[in-house]
Amino acid sequence: MSTVTMTEQEPSTTGTPMVRADRVRKSFGRLEVLKSVDLSVEAGEVVCMIGRSGSGKSTFLRCINHLERIDGGRLWVDGEVVGYRQRGNRLHELRAKEIARRRTEIGMVFQHFNLFPHKTVLENLIEAPRLVLKEPRDVATDRAIDLLGKVGLASKAKAYPRQLSGGQQQRVAIARALCMRPKLMLFDEPTSALDPELIGEVLDVMRDLADTGMTMVVVTHEMGFARDVADRVVFFDEGRIIEDGPAAQVINDPVHERTRAFVKAVR
Ligand code: ADP
Ligand code: MG
Repeated sequence: MSTVTMTEQEPSTTGTPMVRADRVRKSFGRLEVLKSVDLSVEAGEVVCMIGRSGSGKSTFLRCINHLERIDGGRLWVDGEVVGYRQRGNRLHELRAKEIARRRTEIGMVFQHFNLFPHKTVLENLIEAPRLVLKEPRDVATDRAIDLLGKVGLASKAKAYPRQLSGGQQQRVAIARALCMRPKLMLFDEPTSALDPELIGEVLDVMRDLADTGMTMVVVTHEMGFARDVADRVVFFDEGRIIEDGPAAQVINDPVHERTRAFVKAVR
């Protein structure tokens, strides 16, 4: 059976979760986008998030990645309270610099690839490791080339983004995120801007990444991918996760009527 809207999370028994949300709330003005989100993602888990447009999925990912500030509840990444430093039982708000540092530990891939158009693929990959991690050029370059090989684009190091297909650009975006050695990867509908024939190559790269043990939270409506790759699927509905369970069960035999209707519509 899947759990349905937990009100209180049990402490993890398998170590520190990579992500833990406890009654997370977020509003934009009077619009309450996240009403009470509860979620726990263990290290090494792949969790797919599904749900209607506007249900709060992107906002939740942005909260995990310090791009939005939550209004209530509590959010942790790898045991650290998002936005705060904990000393004893007191919380101190983080400065921008410390938030920026924590953000470097989380990779994010968006629907639109956001590559730098005037830089080559290789320059796109080594930019952040050089500027943010202060890595020497040869170290950053070696890893970038290795990662380009892993996403099947070793021959494109010197190409510019506009010379690549959408699927190739998205694979570059994934490699670029991995260059920062993230401990967590967030994907926000990474294939929904792609032509259908290019979706598979991006999902294959994500599947390979999952096989390496990377912790991944993936907003996607690719049900085949979710069923094959995700450990769990969670269903967002109006700012809450109302269903959370093993992928096959949530997709094939959801508990909630709303999940059932949604899954039927996207299948
Ligand atoms: P989803 O990703 O599930 O489609 P979003 O998290 O993008 O949902 O959006 C949830 C709701 O929050 C939508 O109604 C959206 O218009 C609103 N929203 C998102 N970001 C902002 C913002 N920065 N300012 C105001 N409203 C926003
Ligand atoms: Mg979204």
